[in-house]
Amino acid sequence: MSALEANLAKLDGFLARFRKTGILNRIGGEDRAGQGGTFASISPVDKSVICDVARGSAEDIDAAAKAAHEAFAAWRDMAATERRKILIRVAEAIEDRAEEIALCECWDTGQTWRFMSKAALRGAENFRYFADQVVAARDGQHLRSPTLMNVTTRVPLGPVGVITPWNTPFMLSTWKIAPALAAGCTVVHKPAEASPLTARLLVEIAEAAGLPPGVLNTVNGFGEEAGKALTEHPLIKAIAFVGESRTGSIITRQGADTLKRMHLELGGKNPVIVFDDADLEQALDAVIFMIYSINGERCTSSSRLLVQDTIREAFEAKLVERVDNIRVGHPLDPATEIGPLVSEEHFNKVTGYYDIAREEGATIAAGGMTVGDEGYFVRPTLFTGANNAMRIAREEIFGPVLTSIPFSSEEEALAIANDTPYGLTGYVWTNDLTRAIRFTDRLEAGMIWVNSENVRHLPTPFGGVKASGIGRDGGDWSFEFYMEQKNIAFATGRHKIMQLGTQ
Ligand code: NAD
Repeated sequence: MSALEANLAKLDGFLARFRKTGILNRIGGEDRAGQGGTFASISPVDKSVICDVARGSAEDIDAAAKAAHEAFAAWRDMAATERRKILIRVAEAIEDRAEEIALCECWDTGQTWRFMSKAALRGAENFRYFADQVVAARDGQHLRSPTLMNVTTRVPLGPVGVITPWNTPFMLSTWKIAPALAAGCTVVHKPAEASPLTARLLVEIAEAAGLPPGVLNTVNGFGEEAGKALTEHPLIKAIAFVGESRTGSIITRQGADTLKRMHLELGGKNPVIVFDDADLEQALDAVIFMIYSINGERCTSSSRLLVQDTIREAFEAKLVERVDNIRVGHPLDPATEIGPLVSEEHFNKVTGYYDIAREEGATIAAGGMTVGDEGYFVRPTLFTGANNAMRIAREEIFGPVLTSIPFSSEEEALAIANDTPYGLTGYVWTNDLTRAIRFTDRLEAGMIWVNSENVRHLPTPFGGVKASGIGRDGGDWSFEFYMEQKNIAFATGRHKIMQLGTQ
């Protein structure tokens, strides 16, 4: 039996229960059908229906918000050491079921086994990391004034909403949910309609590991229905959102009447800048990895290659050779490097850029074609001869598509890099130290890597500037969002208080 066949056989076993019962909402520790009926979850691998999914409505969100509200006081007041233990058990249970999570994720989203087997473990790592922060989360400062002793502390906000997209959905959900739970908040999670499977596994795993009912609730459904109701619900104190920039503006408006605190992790059109003095072999590996891994469906992908004109021709030639060699195939085959795009809608969006590139006068140097018609497969694509005014350089394509743009000087590279509505990440390749310092200082991005691909370190701040988002995750920054700062001032004596109405 090949590795692919073995994975398919295991997957079949894991999917059997979904086929039988569909995916229900999980509210207050109970399974509930969606008040809006159901919708079908489709696999992008062969366009088959995986199962029916509850279509959550405003009533379902209301029930989930009430369940999260009721569960809040006990979760908030639980001893931090106890809460820590539960979160560690969740991490362990994720590790125990990592294979099931990864296989379901691949089938649901088209992501490859090669990358998703690690993503499930990164989900466990998110729980473990934030579990370890729990005990100190409420600690504050002691700030004395002449008459008062000020004590600061942090308290959890209350029930919060987490709205996640379909790209690496399990890892991203844990990235938001783990710190919220560690902070002492309860959660209503609205996963993306295109990828409901592993959100269901997460809530099941967490409850089995000891998370009390109602602390994490999952309501499936569409953004304009369940998602909108969540952002408008008065019991929900904040929304942690990951998705498109346009959706970020919409939900900010939706949350305005209830004064929701918002954390937005949005889109990107991230530049990778390759200077001619760089380690070009290493840069080539990173450029390829950062746009063609995870099907290019990655917010931090470097989708604009800015390459110095002195090395452009040779660098692009090597790029084409490697890109043409990338293996597109079944996501459960461990040899596959790129699987199908997540959905028909997204497939149409990404492939639409092939024509746009041609119309704009760019060259399709690699790819630019679909693969078979069984699923939503595409060849990895490279556009050359582009400039930064073209749509292929300005719009987030969110697929395995790289646009190469030449530059001649450092000043020009910086101007092109910053000439974008987005500002999530930037990648700079140079061996000139002072240039790296100068350049990164002026590059408009929330996260920058110099001579490296994106390597995530959980204590560091994660987030974007401009249209790429508002707020930061990671380390203590996550707690800043999910907790409220509180200052309590104690008089240290009987200081003079101004008297009114005594004359
Ligand atoms: P999307 O904005 O279409 O959807 C994201 C989520 O929002 C889904 O759960 C959706 O149902 C929900 N939603 C949609 N409309 C809503 C509304 N009116 N009210 C409430 N919820 C609503 O994004 P997507 O296509 O699922 O994901 C891809 C996008 O996510 C890309 O732009 C990508 O860059 C971005 N992303 C950003 C980061 C980051 O950290 N910055 C990480 C991953 C993905």
